[in-house]
Amino acid sequence: MERIWTDFANSLWHDWKGHGQSEDRLMQIKWQQFFLDRYQYIHIQEPSAAEGQRMLELRDSLIEAAGSLARGEMLKDEDIDFYNQIMHKKCLFPEIIKQDEGLELTYAGSILDWDDILADIVIDFAKTVIEEDPSRIRICDNENCRWIFYDETRNRRQRYCDDKLCGNLMKVRRFRAKKKEELED
Ligand SMILES: [Zn+2]
Repeated sequence: MERIWTDFANSLWHDWKGHGQSEDRLMQIKWQQFFLDRYQYIHIQEPSAAEGQRMLELRDSLIEAAGSLARGEMLKDEDIDFYNQIMHKKCLFPEIIKQDEGLELTYAGSILDWDDILADIVIDFAKTVIEEDPSRIRICDNENCRWIFYDETRNRRQRYCDDKLCGNLMKVRRFRAKKKEELED
């Protein structure tokens, strides 16, 4: 399932079919527009250079933290300090809103700029780590993909971001490798 923080972290996009090509989409207007629309952040200006720097810092920190958590490690003290600083700089007001799927607790109404969004992203991340199960945080097993996701499956065995995409690709690769081995034997 997509979350605010995983979507944000996944703005560093890797070509899952390729061999290590990646594209940093964080500062691309097109990616920013997708992200703002998806989470209903409205009337947000383009980030300033300083905001852009802070966005990048948080994004890279979340990628690293997701990797550590996926390996079963705890968050580092300095990371916790960093996340607290981001939340403390801002004052977000929660409100209950009605959605088609039911009620939702959101901070979106008090979000006015990218620094507010960063605080919201950290809150979302903290909720996953504290209120949910951090051992369900995964990095896609296709090493070219490295998509960050939260494993919602019952058996907790989701290895790929998407079984139809990366899952199939890896199945085909394993099959071909096996075939090749058989031919070489
Ligand atoms: Zn993947």
